[in-house]
Amino acid sequence: MTEAPHEAAMDALKARIAGAELGASAQERGAVIGLADGLATVSGLPGVFLDEELIFSTGARGFVLALEETTVQVALIDPSDGISAGQPVARTGQAVSVPVGEALLGRVVDPLGRPLDDRELPETTARLPAERLAPGIIERDFVNQPLETGLLVVDALFAIGRGQRELIVGERQTGKTSIAVDAILNQRESDVICIYVAIGQHASAVARVIDTVRSRGAMERTIFVVAEAAGEPGLRWLAPFSATSMAEAYCETGRDVLIVYDDLTKHAATHRELALLARQPPGREAYPGDIFYLHARLLERSGKRSAKRCGGSITALPIAEIDAGNLSAYIPTNLISISDGQIVTSAALFAANQRPAIDVGLSVSRVGGKAQAGAMKAVAGRVRLDYAQYLEMKIFSRFGGFGDSASAARLVRGEWIAALLAQHRFAPLPLVAQVALLAALDAGVLDKIDPGRIAALKGVLPKRLGGDPRFDGLRALPDALDDDTRAALLEAVRAALEAE
Ligand code: ATP
Ligand code: MG
Repeated sequence: MTEAPHEAAMDALKARIAGAELGASAQERGAVIGLADGLATVSGLPGVFLDEELIFSTGARGFVLALEETTVQVALIDPSDGISAGQPVARTGQAVSVPVGEALLGRVVDPLGRPLDDRELPETTARLPAERLAPGIIERDFVNQPLETGLLVVDALFAIGRGQRELIVGERQTGKTSIAVDAILNQRESDVICIYVAIGQHASAVARVIDTVRSRGAMERTIFVVAEAAGEPGLRWLAPFSATSMAEAYCETGRDVLIVYDDLTKHAATHRELALLARQPPGREAYPGDIFYLHARLLERSGKRSAKRCGGSITALPIAEIDAGNLSAYIPTNLISISDGQIVTSAALFAANQRPAIDVGLSVSRVGGKAQAGAMKAVAGRVRLDYAQYLEMKIFSRFGGFGDSASAARLVRGEWIAALLAQHRFAPLPLVAQVALLAALDAGVLDKIDPGRIAALKGVLPKRLGGDPRFDGLRALPDALDDDTRAALLEAVRAALEAE
C-alpha cells in the first residue's frame, strides 16, 4: 500500500476537524431495556434510522434492525458480554458499513471486514454501507458474456452469463458447495473476482472450502466473508449484504465479480430467529412477512451494469438447501422466483454416483444461453434433449427393453452423455476441451471406446489443446464451429485416445 491514501485520509480528517462546530450540542442517548440472544431492545432514540450503527457502553456495536413506536431492535455485531438493562446506548449517525477495496483480496474476513486469518487488518481506505440500493433499469445491460464454471454439464446445458443469478438448490450433502467452489477455481485464469460468503456454517466446513481454494491457487482472486453458525446472529444476517457491497466496489470500477452465498436457507433462518426475538408477527413457516423482500433486495444488487454506468457485473450463485427433494418449500420457491434459473442437485443421482449430481430435467438457466460461446452452442444443442430422452427410456427399458436398433443407439448415446457430464471435483475443464468432447460425441468418435475411459481422456485433453493456436479464436466464434476447427478438434481427441 502506498503512502498517498493515508495522507489523503489524514487531510480529510484535518479538514473535518478544522470545520467542526464547537460548543454545546444535543445528542440522543438511548437505554438498553432488554437483551436476548444477540438482539437488544433499546428505548429513547427518536431520531434513529434503520441500519444505523449504535454503540453500547461496553464498546460493543450493533445496528438497527427494526423500528418500533418507542423502541428499536438492535442486532449486535459484537459479543454481548457485559451488556445489561439500563446501560446507555449512543448513536453514530452512520449506517453500518464495511471496508472495501483491493486489500481484501486473498483474505478471510468477517462481515465487517475484520480479519479471521491471523493476519493484520486489511489496509482499506474506502467504506460502503452494507445495504445499498440496487441499480435501476437504465443502469443495467443484458447479460452478454459467459461466466465459465469449468463444469461441462453447466457450461453446455445451463450456461451462466456474467451478471446472472443462478440458484444452486438441493438436499444436504449433494455437492452444492462443490459446484460453486469449482466455479471459483475455474476463475484462476480469468479476470473475475470471486467472493465466497459462508453464512451459518460450521467452522470446519468453511475451513475445508478455504483450504481447497488456497491449495488450488485461486486464493489471490478470492475474498472469503465468514459468519459462522456459532457467531452473533447479527453478523450472519449482515454477511450477504456486506459481501455484496464488497462486490459492488469492484463492479463499479468495471470489473466482473462472482459471488457465492452459501447458503441463503441459513440466512433465512437467521432472519426468522431475529424476527421472532423481536416479536414480529410470524407468517408462513414462521418466517416474518418481509422474508421475500429480504432476498429480493439482496439479489437485485447483482446483475450486468450498462457501459455508461461502469460496465462491470456481479454474478450471483445463491445456494439453498431443501428437505426430501421438496422444491416447493417456502424459501426455495421464493429464491427460484427471484433468480434467473436454478441448478438442482439430486440425492438419488448423487447416490448413483453421477457427480456433479445435477438433475437435468429440473434445472434451467433463463439468460445464460444468450451469452454462451457460439462454438459451444454448435455442439451442445442436442445434448440436453438426447439426455432427457435417454433418462426416460432407461426407466422403460427396465420393463423389457426396446427391440429396435434406433432405440438401442439412443441408449448407447445416453450412456456416453452421462459419462461426459460426470466430472471429478476440482478438475475444471476449459471451454476448448468441453467443445472438443461434445464434437467428438456428435461425430461418433467416442462410439467405439468404453465409457470408462472418458475420465482419463478429460485428464489429458486440456493439455493437448491448451497451447494450440488453432483454437485461440474458439471463444470468439460468432455462431457456429467452422469445419476446419471442428476437424482439428476431432483429430486432437483421436490422438489423445491413441496416446493413452
Ligand atoms: P451440505 O448440505 O453439507 O452443505 P453440499 O450439498 O454443499 O453439502 P458438498 O459439501 O459440496 O455438498 O459435497 C458433499 C460431499 O460430496 C463432499 O464431501 C464431496 O466429497 C462429495 N462430492 C461433491 N461433489 C463431488 C464430485 N463432483 N465428485 C466426487 N465427489 C463429490
Ligand atoms: Mg454445502
